[in-house]
Amino acid sequence: MAVGVLALQGSFNEHMAALRRIGVKGVEIRKAEQLEDVDALIIPGGESTTMAKLAHYHNLFPALRDFVKTGKPVWGTCAGLIFLANKATGQKSGGQELIGGLDCLVNRNFFGSQLQSFETELSVPKLAEEEGGPNGFRGVFIRAPAILEVGPGVEVLADCPVPLETKKTMIPVDNDQEETIATLERVIVAVRQGNLLATAFHPELTSDSRWHSLFLKMKKDTGEKRLQCISTSVTD
Ligand code: GLN
Repeated sequence: MAVGVLALQGSFNEHMAALRRIGVKGVEIRKAEQLEDVDALIIPGGESTTMAKLAHYHNLFPALRDFVKTGKPVWGTCAGLIFLANKATGQKSGGQELIGGLDCLVNRNFFGSQLQSFETELSVPKLAEEEGGPNGFRGVFIRAPAILEVGPGVEVLADCPVPLETKKTMIPVDNDQEETIATLERVIVAVRQGNLLATAFHPELTSDSRWHSLFLKMKKDTGEKRLQCISTSVTD
């Protein structure tokens, strides 16, 4: 099995290293045709506007959308989660193109700026059930997004309390959605939908390989649950 790691920008080296640790071949993906030779794809964290510009420049969006539609496993971490979402909102969004396919609404910089980056212990019973070990997983959140809404076909794997530091940075604005966001106590940070896995945090920056193992066990979804890959843009 060969796993592609989108290698335009961000933490692709760390994902490659995590795959090596569990004895799986990783392939750095920079061109559309390279996607033909891999069985699964990881879209790393980084900066989603920059990544989108680079993906656009290299004409990768059509191939990435096609890859999602094949039913092969695709995992987005952080900026990768934003890329996979059908809809993204949030302050300072760059209006970038998304791959889409994951039936959820993401807020891009929900937890605040780089200064509000944090680590916290998440409870992920599914991870323990499928991979063994404890329910707990150390979530590393770097200028992280949060999932605000999910569709009926989306399985929530983990949520997380909104840290006080994040709440302090939320400036009340005259906008219904932002007001609702400011009252949230918990938000969703990991989901699975068919062949898609998405985490708002960075498992590749920890020594716990269970998310990578869980991802690799996701079966190719060729059944009736064909994904609707909706190309959407970020909206504010
Ligand atoms: N919030 C960032 C963005 O919009 C993603 C941060 C990350 O991937 N660590 O791109």
